[in-house]
Amino acid sequence: MAPRFPEGGFAPPAGQNRLTASQSERYARPLLLPEIGAEGQERLAASRVLVVGLGGLGCPASAYLAAAGVGTLGLMDGDRVELSNLHRQVLYRQEDLGRPKVESAVRALFGLNPEVHLVPHPGRLTATNALGIVGGYHVVVGACDNHATRYALNDACVKAARPLVDASVRRFEGRLALYCPGSGCLRCLFPQPPEAAEVGGVAAVQGILGPLPGIMGCLEALEVLKVLLGLGRPLSDRLLLFNGLSGEQRLLKRGRNPACPVCGDRPAPARPR
Ligand SMILES: [Zn+2]
Repeated sequence: MAPRFPEGGFAPPAGQNRLTASQSERYARPLLLPEIGAEGQERLAASRVLVVGLGGLGCPASAYLAAAGVGTLGLMDGDRVELSNLHRQVLYRQEDLGRPKVESAVRALFGLNPEVHLVPHPGRLTATNALGIVGGYHVVVGACDNHATRYALNDACVKAARPLVDASVRRFEGRLALYCPGSGCLRCLFPQPPEAAEVGGVAAVQGILGPLPGIMGCLEALEVLKVLLGLGRPLSDRLLLFNGLSGEQRLLKRGRNPACPVCGDRPAPARPR
């Protein structure tokens, strides 16, 4: 089944607000692209994007989305900044150690683009609170460091019919997918989360080199902008694999699995964990 990707993207139509002189200067380079222009920039200003996880993926993703002029950016994370985060979580500074990531991220992103409305969601996303939060946004970025949050987010996005741009990193490999309503979900590929222990997140167990989540977080931001603006070919029918050691990028065909416990023809009545 072809994924549903509405012409013009998932963002609401641009409002009547014209760009101010300072906005025209701030966004001068994207405004030069005929595929974006003033109308696209106004669409971004009317868009609401939620970033779940403000670690190695969420830092670059939220920075590029704020810089691009996404109007409202929701930021969710329950952790505090630790010294071992700083080699890859580039929103934070030495003086942020011990502070909630949400608080430090809001400060950094406000400094980058004060015109973006930043909505902090301090705390961990769970199967209980996910649906209420996800429903308030047009597009969701999955930048989670643990399987429980990632799967809870996936299930909520299916239920709320919100596109989910989801990335993960493991040692030297990154994965990126776009799950749109009707195009399948994370559980179509991997019905249940792996059993592996991951106290403190996958990176804390297996190690990670900073630029890899940086690259994958930037790819997430790019995919979100494509979704919001209806640009190019969305990744909604493919899974992108990036190998940081060889530099190779592979695209695997992906689709909805009718037997999926969440988005299949007969979803399980109770949300599986
Ligand atoms: Zn599914």
